[in-house]
Amino acid sequence: MTINDVVRADAVPETSWIERGGTPTAPGTGRLRPLGLREVILRPGFWQERQQTNQSASLAHIEHWLERAGWLGNFDAAVQDRLPAARRGREFADSEVYKLLEAMAWEYGRTGDERLDARLRAIVARVAAAQEPDGYLNTNFGRPGQQPRYSDLEWGHELYCYGHLIQAGVARARTSGHDELVQVALRAADHICDTFGPDGIASVCGHPEIEPALVEMYRVTGQRRYLDQARLFVERRGRQTLDDIEFGRAYFQDDIPVREAGVLRGHAVRAGYLAAGAVDVAVETGDTELLDALARQWRTTVARRTYLTGGMGSRHQDEAFGEDFSLPADRAYSETCAGIGSVMFSWRLLLAQGDPRYADLIERTLFNVIATSPSDDGTRFFYTNTLHQRVPGIDPPADALVPRAASSLRAPWFAVSCCPTNLARTFAALAAYLATTDDEGIQLHQYAAASLETTLPDGRGIGLEIDTEYPADGHIAIRIVRTPQAPWTLTLRIPHWTTDATIEVDGRLSPVSAGSVQIRRRFTAGEVIVLVLPVRARLTMPDPRIDAIRGCAAVERGPIVFCLESADLPSGVPLDTLSMNAATDLTERDGTVVATFHVKPADGDDWPYGGVVPTEPGASLPVPLLPYHRWARRGPSSMRVWIPVHDG
Ligand SMILES: [Zn+2]
Repeated sequence: MTINDVVRADAVPETSWIERGGTPTAPGTGRLRPLGLREVILRPGFWQERQQTNQSASLAHIEHWLERAGWLGNFDAAVQDRLPAARRGREFADSEVYKLLEAMAWEYGRTGDERLDARLRAIVARVAAAQEPDGYLNTNFGRPGQQPRYSDLEWGHELYCYGHLIQAGVARARTSGHDELVQVALRAADHICDTFGPDGIASVCGHPEIEPALVEMYRVTGQRRYLDQARLFVERRGRQTLDDIEFGRAYFQDDIPVREAGVLRGHAVRAGYLAAGAVDVAVETGDTELLDALARQWRTTVARRTYLTGGMGSRHQDEAFGEDFSLPADRAYSETCAGIGSVMFSWRLLLAQGDPRYADLIERTLFNVIATSPSDDGTRFFYTNTLHQRVPGIDPPADALVPRAASSLRAPWFAVSCCPTNLARTFAALAAYLATTDDEGIQLHQYAAASLETTLPDGRGIGLEIDTEYPADGHIAIRIVRTPQAPWTLTLRIPHWTTDATIEVDGRLSPVSAGSVQIRRRFTAGEVIVLVLPVRARLTMPDPRIDAIRGCAAVERGPIVFCLESADLPSGVPLDTLSMNAATDLTERDGTVVATFHVKPADGDDWPYGGVVPTEPGASLPVPLLPYHRWARRGPSSMRVWIPVHDG
C-alpha cells in the first residue's frame, strides 16, 4: 500500500481558503480575521521587490543547495536502504526540505505557477516515499545503525521536523487541496498523536515547532486530536521532562510552565515558536489565562529583551535571550529565524487581541531583521544580525557552505541553514500580514503598495488600492475601489514612532496619534483616504538600563533603523573614532540621512581605563548614514547602529 492509496474521508481539508490563496494562520476565533494571499496583492515597492526576488531566485537557490548538500538525497537514501552511511547534514536537515515545500506551496497559492507546482510535486514524491507505514518520517533515526526513534528528544529535532512538514501540509491544503503532501503531513500528525498522546511518551521536543503546526492542522481538518496533542505539548513544557543540558533547561523552555513564565527566555527561535503555538492553543481552547500570560510575556520581552531592530537573542553560545536589558550591540545574535519567530508570535496575538502594538513590532522586525538577511539577488543570507561589526569580516566563498554564524557577511548556505528557508516561506506569504477583517470592516496593519479585494463576513465586497512609496515616504493614499452602500469601518495603524501624522477624509484633515485610527462612514467608490506618517530622521536614545549602549544614540527614519558603515568613511578614518553631538542636525537628501560626526583619533595602546575621560570632540565630518538593512553590500566593512554621543 502506498500513501497515495490512503484516502482519509475523515480528514478532508477545508477548501474555503483555496480560492483566496491560503493564509498561514487561520484562528477559529479572535478579534481579527486574516486575509488570503490572493486577497492582498503586493504592487511595485519595497516588499514586492523582495517577494519577487524570493520567487525568481531564492527558491531555486535553496532547491539547488538542498540537492547539492545531499539533504534532499537523504530521503532517496532512506528508500534505497543507504542510511545511515549516506546521511548528509545535521539532525534537522529534513526540516529545510519541508520549509522549501511550504514556501513553494504559498508561492503556488499566490501565483498559480504550474512549473513551480511540478517542482513541488517532484520533491513531495521523494519525501513521501521515505515515510514508513506507521507515519514515521525522519532520515536520521530509527534504522539499523541509527539511534532509535525518539531516543534523543533534547537534540534530535524529530518533532521539530514534523512541525515543518505539517506546516507545509497546511500550506498545501489551503492553496491546492487534498494531495500527496497533505496526506504525508496527516499521517505524520496521526503518528505523533498515537506516539505522544496521553498514554504515550510523556515528553516534548527540545525544539518547539510542532505546537503551532498541530493547531494549524486542526484548523484545516477540524480533527480535535491535533489540537489536544498541541495542548498536551504546551502543558508538558516547563515541567522538566527533558534532560538537563549544559545551557540549562531554559534553553528549550523546559524550566517553567508556559502559563507561569513572565518573559521569553532561552533559545530565541525556540521561545518564539513555542509562544506562537501556545497562543494558538489558548485561542482555540478559550484559555484566557494562558493568552493573558503570553501577552504579558510579549510586553516584557519587548520592554527588556529586544534590540532596536526588533532582533531577539544576545547570547551566542546558546543563541539565546540574555537577561533583562542585556542587549550589547556588538554581541547581538538576533538570528534571522528569531525575527521570524517573533513575527509569528506577534501576528497571532494581533489576530487574537487586535492591539496595534503587535503590528508595530512586526513592522520593526520586517524592515530591520527580515529585510536585512537576504542579499539583493536573494542568494546570500545573514544568519545573525549584529548591530555592531567592529572588524571587517572575511567575504565567505560565493559557492560554498559555511558554518552558521562564522561569517560577518551574507553567505549562500550554512551547515545550519534554517534562515534561508525560513525567509523563503515568510516572503512567499508576506501579503497575508498586511491587513485583516472583522465584522465592522478592514484593518491595515502594514503599509505597502498593494491591491486588496475581499468580502466581509456578511457578504459585503470591498476593494482598496493602496498607493505609497513607504517606507521611503510616509504618504499613503488608500483609494476605495469597491464598497457596499452601508457604512463600514476602515482602521489604520498609526505607528508608535509617529509624530504629526494626519489623515484626510472627504477633504477634511485631522491629526492622528500613535495607535490606530478608525474611519466609519459610507464610503464611495473612487474616494481617496490619505494618511501621512511623516518619516523624518530622528535620534533615538536607549533606556539607561541597557548598559552596553549607554551614552550612545541611533538614527531612525520612520520604521527604518540606520547605521554608520565604514564604506562611507574617508580612508584612514576608523569607525570607532567617530562620535556625534546629541543636538546634531540630521539632514536628508534623496532618502539619505547625513549627520555631522566628530573624529577623535585613538590614543595609542595605553591602558584603556583612567580617571578622566577626554571631552574634546575633535574635527567634524559629515557622513551619510545607511538603512541598516542595506549594510554589508559593498564588501567587508565595519558598521555600527549605536553611535557614541559627546556633550557640547
Ligand atoms: Zn535560522
